[in-house]
Amino acid sequence: MKRTQIELADGRELIYFDERDDAVRDQPDRRELPPPPHASQLRYDPLTDEWVAVAVHRQTRTFLPPADQCPLCPSRGDRLSEIPAPDYDVVVFENRFPSLSQRVAEEPAEITPFTPVRPGRGKCEVVCFTDDHNASFASLPPARVRTVLDALADRTTALSELPGVEQVFPFENRGVEIGVTLHHPHGQIYAYPFVTPRTRTMLAAARRHFERTGGNLYADVLAAERAAGDRVVASNEHWTAYVPAAARWPFEVHVAPHRPVPDIPALDDAERDAFGPLYLDVLRRFDGLFDMPMPYIAAWHQAPVHVDRELGHLHLQLFSIRRAKDKLKYLAGSESGMGVFINDIAPERAAELLRAA
Ligand SMILES: [Zn+2]
Repeated sequence: MKRTQIELADGRELIYFDERDDAVRDQPDRRELPPPPHASQLRYDPLTDEWVAVAVHRQTRTFLPPADQCPLCPSRGDRLSEIPAPDYDVVVFENRFPSLSQRVAEEPAEITPFTPVRPGRGKCEVVCFTDDHNASFASLPPARVRTVLDALADRTTALSELPGVEQVFPFENRGVEIGVTLHHPHGQIYAYPFVTPRTRTMLAAARRHFERTGGNLYADVLAAERAAGDRVVASNEHWTAYVPAAARWPFEVHVAPHRPVPDIPALDDAERDAFGPLYLDVLRRFDGLFDMPMPYIAAWHQAPVHVDRELGHLHLQLFSIRRAKDKLKYLAGSESGMGVFINDIAPERAAELLRAA
């Protein structure tokens, strides 16, 4: 893989990850762009002990542009996009409308004594998986999935070194039903200046388990799922894909490496190669369920950058809000108001349907 880093017209960085070692990426960004916005504001919610990012500049971001104005397609002729090259394999660049960034204007003023405020210092990057506007992640060849994984490893390492970053979260939203604002197949990476609420909850459970048993909670749960077998959707030598016994979503699959590693950079060569074939198999089963492109969120759970790394266990959480061909699962009163999920499909049944798809 060849890595080439360039600077866009407004100073944001862009990195090409090419599968050919002789790729030349010397095209300049010929656009005239205003400087990128300053970091958003983080406000502390004292009632839930959680931070909320207030990013008002994101209201003006590009929303479902027509295909001929796609900012993630390569630049061709006079049609200039975010990517100056006329083609690419995998490309990563800083989001033009980031929720978190390193550009901090000034320390925000206090709102009330109960609501500390701080700048949204972090980073938000966009990952383009292919230059083919009409492709999907499921249609990528395994070799490309490997390139994507290598790019995510590169970015996790680099973002972990930024001042203040505590957690790096790569993810893909797919489908307008999920709220995707650009059709071109892409993912994102958020580098947060705190450990996220969900990860904090999981780490607290993992710590209690470690103190009680000396084991890694996720590794023990994975071993139990592999032994039970009825929720396993697919597996190979290095990875298992299974529906969690207490799945929250109608269709939810965890894809986890058998070896407990904290994050993507810690995966070895054989593990990285083995991920693509298995994940692609699971994604195609998702699309096969209702014979239509499945809206989904694919969320990489990585250990925090500085704390509790030994308690973490890398896994990809893939889930859809589609529960039937013509029905979506909405987060309504119980889920949104109280955080209690009601799942209409038994996890064992979901696994059976996915195995048959
Ligand atoms: Zn495109």
